[in-house]
Amino acid sequence: MRDCIKNHVKSLVTKTDVKMYPDNLTGFTVPYLMESLDVPKDELIKEINELIESRNLAVNDPYQTMACPSCGSPDPFSRVACPKCGSNDIEINGNIIKCRNCGLHAGILEAINFICKTCGKSFNIENAKWITLGSLHAVNAFDIEPIAAAIKSLGIYPKRCYTITGASGMIHRFDFAFEHNEFTRVADVEVERDTIDVKDLIEFLSKVFDSNIKEAYFIAVPKLSVSIDPGKKNIKVIEAPSINDASDKFKQILIDRGISSKIIH
Ligand SMILES: [Zn+2]
Ligand SMILES: [Zn+2]
Repeated sequence: MRDCIKNHVKSLVTKTDVKMYPDNLTGFTVPYLMESLDVPKDELIKEINELIESRNLAVNDPYQTMACPSCGSPDPFSRVACPKCGSNDIEINGNIIKCRNCGLHAGILEAINFICKTCGKSFNIENAKWITLGSLHAVNAFDIEPIAAAIKSLGIYPKRCYTITGASGMIHRFDFAFEHNEFTRVADVEVERDTIDVKDLIEFLSKVFDSNIKEAYFIAVPKLSVSIDPGKKNIKVIEAPSINDASDKFKQILIDRGISSKIIH
């Protein structure tokens, strides 16, 4: 699929409440997306930022939260320590602390310390980094999750945005890749309002041949602009009026071909 990463990100955040930091996106802020997509972190973050800039992703309910000033990780440990000598031997009386080690009296806010769970840096409220947290939501995204669900229902876990270098040296990407009996199948999903340009199928075929993929599926919702059968047993074009219908068809084809790690009755 063209814009593979963007489409998967939009589709995933449509289904999942993904927390992130719009003003300072790091790997910490999108762990779910990092795990789900077969793409390098820097590339993923760049694509997400572009989606936000182009208003394809929106951040809902933003609020300020504290993060490590060194590495940006949220959710530090907190502890109370004497701001003068660092001792943890502290007596707390309302908003005032008393250090049993050096005798200092101080306000509780001055005595709260944080330790980053990720990099171990200790910091306090004064030098903490404040960042905005919110939930990511896709705007007008086509939902390709039913295709992932069809593969998963057969007990196979698909890779998303699968990346492979072709014989030509070109890098190709497929929406989904899944393995069964030790060889890799791929699937691309194209969703449009009216028709899918046949050029997209031709591009798909050239990616498949260049990558030496043995079995490939091109899923066109609702249909190709011109009906074409690639005439190869191992390359299947699936047309269906909706993504759910396409998912049902796709699943049935996989079952008929014996592609399942489950016993189907
Ligand atoms: Zn002290
Ligand atoms: Zn840190």
